[in-house]
This record gives sequence, structure tokens and C-alpha cells, in this order.
Amino acid sequence: MLKVGFIGWRGMVGSVLLQRMREESDFAGIESVFFTTSNIGGPAPPEGGPGAVLQDAYDLKALAACPVLLSCQGGDYTTQVYAELRKSGWQGYWIDAASTLRMAEDAVIILDPVNRSVIDRALDSGLKAYIGGNCTVSLMLMAIGGLFREGLVEWVTSMTYQAASGAGAAKMLELMRQMDRLTAAANSLPNGDALSVETAVTAQQRSASLPVAEFGAPLAGSLLAWIDKEMPGGQTREEWKGETETNKILGTPRTIPVDGVCVRVGTLRCHSQGLTVKLTRDVPMADIEAILASSTPWTKVVPNNKRDTITDLTPTAVTGTLTVPVGRLHKLRLGPEYLGAFTVGDQLLWGAAEPLRRMVRILRERLG
Ligand code: NAP
Repeated sequence: MLKVGFIGWRGMVGSVLLQRMREESDFAGIESVFFTTSNIGGPAPPEGGPGAVLQDAYDLKALAACPVLLSCQGGDYTTQVYAELRKSGWQGYWIDAASTLRMAEDAVIILDPVNRSVIDRALDSGLKAYIGGNCTVSLMLMAIGGLFREGLVEWVTSMTYQAASGAGAAKMLELMRQMDRLTAAANSLPNGDALSVETAVTAQQRSASLPVAEFGAPLAGSLLAWIDKEMPGGQTREEWKGETETNKILGTPRTIPVDGVCVRVGTLRCHSQGLTVKLTRDVPMADIEAILASSTPWTKVVPNNKRDTITDLTPTAVTGTLTVPVGRLHKLRLGPEYLGAFTVGDQLLWGAAEPLRRMVRILRERLG
């Protein structure tokens, strides 16, 4: 049986990964070993077998005993361990949620409903690093991959509304603590008019005692128009990933420009994006909708009306599901080649865990 080592299974992405692997009975066909950076010798999840304990995630020998390693631990861990592991002679397959290795020449970004042929070619040529894409990029491609496939995209702008859990467990929990504080301020004025409640809540948001250690600023009832590090040209690294990763995932012969502004909002789970697509030609809306619907089996076109939009095109509706709705579809007043769209997707599923668990399946089918 294929031995797979899991690192980072306790975090946001790792927990969803385990949940999905259980739902799909993925553990049945593999031998699972669980690693930790914080609780060596602690009890492993039941899939590790009776009495199994957590192994040290920095023990290169223990890691090297697994022909497949899957990490959801984060970029710092990958930076610290991956090169050393390879240097020690390990020849196994590395599957990772972190961005560290995504742009490496000997790594593929995995999103198999969109780029299975790229993955298969990489496996045939002996590549050993398979890395999950940036969540907003993967979700954009799940939504509008059909337009790229048909050669209809000249460029895209993506204006994002990204959930707190996209930044990890600790940050999402901080948002909840902030929400508690704001709710308590509102509740202190049970008969207050809207302006008094807003004033009390805003005072809490600005209070020095609001917990902000994770985000560095209030997010509850607010938003933060900066995600990740600064890049040259005024972009953030999250924005930079839009173009570089889209083109790498698709293996495009010429670079298709993708850019926008990435914003963290106070939603718990699911990233949303407002898209402007410059089409290569004027395509009738009915054809666009048919092409979008064919993007992947999980892509769902939402009719451009208020009822369907507020029912089906929200983080509340999409959280915990694999469906990637795309709606608000209409030609913008900029001209007939400019398509407006809005899409929502669960960044912990298609944006993170799902491509990783499916890669384990692909390897299991290949390696037995
Ligand atoms: P995370 O929730 O912060 O978990 C990472 C590790 O932090 C855990 O494995 C755990 O390691 C440790 N940890 C510390 N405090 C924790 C707590 N309160 N609860 C659970 N674990 C805690 O990170 P993540 O969001 O899963 O992200 C992992 C990687 O995936 C990152 O590189 C990230 O950029 C990438 N990614 C994330 C998302 C997303 O939506 N979150 C989407 C795409 C890609 P130990 O058990 O060893 O202590």
C-alpha cells in the first residue's frame, strides 16, 4: 500500500483535507503517517492505525520513509525542510498547499479539473513536486476556465473579497474574537438607535484593546485592502500570483495578463471575486453562459437576477460545497467585448484541500 505522510493536518487546510479524504474514503487505499511540529508523540488521527502517534515533522529520516509527503503546514516549513530532504537523497512525491515551490521549474501547480493534461505530462516526465495553486487563482479558473480553454480571454481583472480563514486558523479565530467585542458593544445599547450603535461599535473597532495581533488591524465590520507582501510596481504578492499562476496552471504559450486588487473582508470562509474579462471577440451571452457552464462539472452559472444572486452567489450559500457559482454575467458598458462576472468559491475546498486530495488519488492510481 502506498505510504503517505501528512504534515499540517491540524490547520485550516489540513482539517478540511482530512474531512474530505474521510468523505471520499481516500484513506482506505493508503497507509497514513501523521507528523507534527508541536505535539511529537501525541495521538495520531485514527487513520494512522491503532495506537499510532505523531512523528516529528523535522525528522528527515522519518519523512524520507514515505514515498509521498503531503504538507499543509505552510511556506516556512516547506522552505526549511524540502531542500534538505531532497539533498538527503529522498526521491518521493511532494504535494504541498504552500506557495514556496509553485513557480519552481520542476514543480507543477495542480488543479486537475482544469489542467489534468499538464499534470499527466509532468508525471510522465518524472516530476516529483505537485503544488496546490493560490486559492483565488484556482477558484477563478474553476469559474471561468471554459473561456480560457476556448481562447476567448485577452485579459482579466479580478477584484477579490477574501475570507479570514484564507489566512489560517489563528486569523479566523481572531476575527471571531473581534466580532464578539463589537457585538458586546452593540448589545450594551439594547434600545439604541442605529447611529448610537454604530458609534459604540466604531469606538470598539478603534479601541487599543481590540485583539489585532494576527491581522494587525480591525477586520470585523471593516476590510483590509492588502494581502501578503509588497511587490515591485505597487502590487501585493497575492495580486502578483494572479497572472503568474494562471499562466503556469494553464501552460499558456503567451502570457495572458491578469491583475486586480485583493481585499480581505470579514467573511469566515469562501473567496469572492468581481471579474472583468476582456474577450478576444464579441461573443453572444448565451454562448458565453454555455462555455462557462462547461468549465468544470462543479461550475454553475447563476442567472443574472436579484433572487438567484442573493440566494446562490454568496459565501453563506457556497461554504462547505464544491460548487463554484459564477453569475452577474453581463456585457459591461465599456463595449461588447467586456464581460462582467462575479464568482464565489470555497477557498478551503477547490482553493486548497481538494486538488491535494485528488493528487493523492492520481498518484495512488499510478503507483498502486
Ligand atoms: P494554519 O491554519 O495556520 O495551519 C498551519 C499549522 O499551524 C497547523 O498545521 C498547526 O501545526 C499550526 N497551528 C498553530 N495554531 C493553530 C491552531 N489554532 N489551529 C490549528 N493549527 C494551528 O494554516 P492554513 O490556513 O491551513 O494554511 C496552510 C498552508 O496552505 C499555507 O501555506 C497557506 O498559505 C496555504 N493555503 C491556505 C489556504 C486557506 O484557505 N487557509 C488556501 C490555499 C493555500 P502543528 O499541528 O504542527 O502545530
